[in-house]
Amino acid sequence: MSLQKGLPEEIAALDEDLAFTSRQIEARKKIAEERLKLRERLNATINDCKEKIRSFKEKQTLARNNKEYDALSKQIEYEEKEIAQSEIQLQDIAHTEHHAQELQKKGRDLIAENRYDEISEEMMPDDVLHQQLEDLSKQVGLKKEELDGIVIETAEEIARLRKTLDTQRSVVTAEAKRLLDKYDHLKSGTLQNAVVKLDRHACSGCNTRVPTNRHTLIVQGGFYVCESCGRIVVHERLFEEAAVETK
Ligand SMILES: [Zn+2]
Repeated sequence: MSLQKGLPEEIAALDEDLAFTSRQIEARKKIAEERLKLRERLNATINDCKEKIRSFKEKQTLARNNKEYDALSKQIEYEEKEIAQSEIQLQDIAHTEHHAQELQKKGRDLIAENRYDEISEEMMPDDVLHQQLEDLSKQVGLKKEELDGIVIETAEEIARLRKTLDTQRSVVTAEAKRLLDKYDHLKSGTLQNAVVKLDRHACSGCNTRVPTNRHTLIVQGGFYVCESCGRIVVHERLFEEAAVETK
């Protein structure tokens, strides 16, 4: 489980960066599309006006009097103003685009000088932004794969531990049952005192010496099955404790 620590948080942070970069790219795309539409509309207006002027000038050649001629002149003038206004707007767009390109150029210079903290959002060059998106996507993918791998590994480890526990439990159960059977057998038989105390390093039932290496275990509250008489040998303290409990 500890291997997993930090990885989900890392993925969340990368996902956030990815979303941020993606939003920036989308916003730029939207602006570019809107500019293109506006430019197309302005160019259409200019062509339209020019067409009208051509037609008005043709009519002027056929004007029957000054009044008619002047009226057409006024209409031509109006169309020319329309063209001029559209051209100003086209220039504004070109200027804005140039400014954006200049900012990106500055951004590229700052990147070359490792001055990342001075780069504003607009300064990030388009290609760098796209590269960033690609890199982040790749990183998120790898981290997610890594996390999936760890989750599977952890599941395998848990299964292994569970199996070990089951095995241990069955060993303990079998051992306890064996001991219980022994006790029952001793009680039902001719032998008295199935459980006896350790007396001067020996089984107090038959006086056979208990191996030295079992003494510590008995002192600690464990038991020893006497090899000679089969009685269960325990520390005398347990008898005292049992007596207290019986009272
Ligand atoms: Zn014995």
